Amino acid sequence: MNLPRLLLLSVCLCLSARATETAPKQFRAGAAAANISPWMGISINGNMHDHKGTNLHDQLHARCVVLDDGTTRIAFVITDNCLIYREIFDAAKKIVHDKIGFPTDHILMSATHTHSAPAVVSIFQSDADKEYQHFLTLRLADAVLQAVNNLRPAKIAWAVGNEPRHVSNRRWFMQPTVTNINLITGGRDAVKMNPRPGNPDLVGPAGPTDPEVPVVFIKGLDDKPIALLANYSMHYVGDVGGDSIYSADYFGAFCERVKQLLGADHQDPPFVAMLSNGTSGDCSSTQFRETPTNEPPFTKINRAANDVADVALAAIKDAPFHDWVEIKSAQKEILLGVRKATPVELEKSKERLAKATRHNGQFGGWSPDIYHREAVLLNDFPDQVPLLLQTYRIGDLAIASVPCEVFAEIGLEIKKQSPFKPTFTIELANGYNGYLPTPAQHKLGGYETWRARSSYLETHASEKIFTTLMEMFGSLK
Ligand SMILES: [Zn+2]
Repeated sequence: MNLPRLLLLSVCLCLSARATETAPKQFRAGAAAANISPWMGISINGNMHDHKGTNLHDQLHARCVVLDDGTTRIAFVITDNCLIYREIFDAAKKIVHDKIGFPTDHILMSATHTHSAPAVVSIFQSDADKEYQHFLTLRLADAVLQAVNNLRPAKIAWAVGNEPRHVSNRRWFMQPTVTNINLITGGRDAVKMNPRPGNPDLVGPAGPTDPEVPVVFIKGLDDKPIALLANYSMHYVGDVGGDSIYSADYFGAFCERVKQLLGADHQDPPFVAMLSNGTSGDCSSTQFRETPTNEPPFTKINRAANDVADVALAAIKDAPFHDWVEIKSAQKEILLGVRKATPVELEKSKERLAKATRHNGQFGGWSPDIYHREAVLLNDFPDQVPLLLQTYRIGDLAIASVPCEVFAEIGLEIKKQSPFKPTFTIELANGYNGYLPTPAQHKLGGYETWRARSSYLETHASEKIFTTLMEMFGSLK
């Protein structure tokens, strides 16, 4: 190569390097929803009894949005299911990583907690369906892969609305005359979960609620909506009209409603709305002071979905859009102890189970035998379990995620102590490790604290999780 050509080439290289340095970074987003509707006959978990699905009321989805600031790419996948094991999420993330190199620790996958979905976790008297677990794994991966295919230049806004009408604390102090048996100890619990609404023996709720509706809205540069991710701390609604019906509950109805209100029904690529569960381990949609009225199935679901959708869209209406924001992500695994029965308790549970009677293979009602069986099954768990905690920062907005059914007061404390405003938490994310009460709530007792595969972490788990999340937020500054 002669000298002038060499000089010219080096000038060009120099200019192109400078162009990359100074070119504004492009913010991009893509969304997709993978249909995860089951076939009939799979167990539906989330209740004490097992029921097989015989009717599909509405389609179930894994809804995904991928955000990319030009340097860092993250994904949210919000899934219409009650509880999802970490192994399923990990396997789905690995598929995505193996196919396109997406870092697995930049993918947040969570369950909405509809109680009308096929069982992929074995709990109480329902067993996970292996075939559906495999199907779900593939479809979770597809949701991310398709969302990446749909990436395009985008802008993002966020805001926080307020909807106190559809959330209440479900753990209540009752008059001392009320018998309130702890099914593990046989003693009296200080609080009762889901007392009969309008009950004259109600004294007061044992904890707060979080009525906030954080919303993240992503549009294309052409103003076409790409995705809307909201968060609300309410357990689920559940008036689906039976125990054998598959439904996405109000989480799915919210997504349909948002799509209608935005006039984004028939877009290409499709607009995706998603409603993540906040910190609702002790919260309900029931107003316990009111005497309930009989309403047709899905009335309450649609009312909650429509109201939360209205609040979300009103909140985001005047929020400023950012053409670019920095994205950061941190993930950490912590080890927590498992609460197991003592050897004496375990022997007693085994003796009781040997004599217990089942009807159609199941224990009745709120039988203590259900918990004797749980004690035996929980004994096979390791003494400590790893928990995956994950945090994202999107501009000044931060998101924490916890693989538990988190009590509202913990979520409120995360919001208060977070260095980023606003902050919200997505529960049942990246795995399933049972209820997360505070140590003080453990002392009060109640269903959420009863030792079972639904509640087994050490009593100080919430403090360790909180401290770790705050450290992780510190690393995102
Ligand atoms: Zn639940």
